[in-house]
Amino acid sequence: MTQAAAPSAQELYESFIPLGDPATYTPEACDRLARTIAEINELKVVRRAVILAHNYQRPEIFEVADFVGDSLELAQKATTVDAEVIVFCGVHFMAETAKILNPKRTVLLPDLRAGCSLADSVDADSLEDRKEELKKLYPDLQVACYVNTTAEVKAVCDVCVTSSNAIRIVESLPTNNVLFVPDENLAAHVQENTKKNVIAWNGNCYVHHQITPEQIENVRKHLPHVKVIVHPECRSDVLQLADAVLSTSGMIKYAKESDAQEFLVVTECGLSDRLLLELPEKKFYKSCKLCAYMKMITIDDTLRSLKEMRHPIELEESVRVGAERSLRRMLELSA
Ligand code: SF4
Repeated sequence: MTQAAAPSAQELYESFIPLGDPATYTPEACDRLARTIAEINELKVVRRAVILAHNYQRPEIFEVADFVGDSLELAQKATTVDAEVIVFCGVHFMAETAKILNPKRTVLLPDLRAGCSLADSVDADSLEDRKEELKKLYPDLQVACYVNTTAEVKAVCDVCVTSSNAIRIVESLPTNNVLFVPDENLAAHVQENTKKNVIAWNGNCYVHHQITPEQIENVRKHLPHVKVIVHPECRSDVLQLADAVLSTSGMIKYAKESDAQEFLVVTECGLSDRLLLELPEKKFYKSCKLCAYMKMITIDDTLRSLKEMRHPIELEESVRVGAERSLRRMLELSA
């Protein structure tokens, strides 16, 4: 493995200007960050490690990441990584997904507190009970679970989905009745786009669920020309106001390919940061919320994770195999 060149403090300072956050990214802070980035790059070679990062991570994490993407892209990437160590800058279920798909690698999560309120809204036992109940009414029932679930939940589902492939995968299932867990908002969005009967679980992402139509209408009133791009974890009345409903990587593609110059980005704030850094010639207004779990991963914890090899993800093999079946089925159906 060759060592990636670390940016100088000045280069970092200049590249962060589009973020419009001079109070955080001061010359002194960029000097400290540049030294930490250089240390991480050195350790990645020593450990034979790669860093995978979700689109909602902090801007400085993007600087050390070998790959940045949405849940589907990260799951696909995890199947092909041949480094010995994967440091996962994202939340727990994402690191688990990498371990499920690539069990021979050591997968590290820099901070074990980085969970997910949506993943916590369903557990395997309650899901088994609900499945049994519904199967009496719908014998053909299949269970589609959002990738934002624990390995135990994935192991008792028929197939996984992400926000970018949920509609296509539900459509492709050989059944008319689908229990969709755990995001009720994404389930409603899928139901809008299929004739199948989608039965929603009662869960949501606290970050997206708090965004209201009034907030979007208020921006539209002042900036009628902006393109409004919305994540499908938002409420239905918010989705109705969107020019496009897209996964995080779908939003990046849309912003790159669109002739429009100004966008209102309705999802977690990390995605707006990535867009501001990658497309400084376009304007992105933030109607975003911070995910406290995603922001628990810091560059210092990432360095510590590589130094001390912490915190490795461990899974019971029977659970891992069951979860892998659901994930592989998703990957096959979305290929
Ligand atoms: S943004 Fe929502 S779904 Fe994503 S990790 Fe945070 S709480 Fe979970």
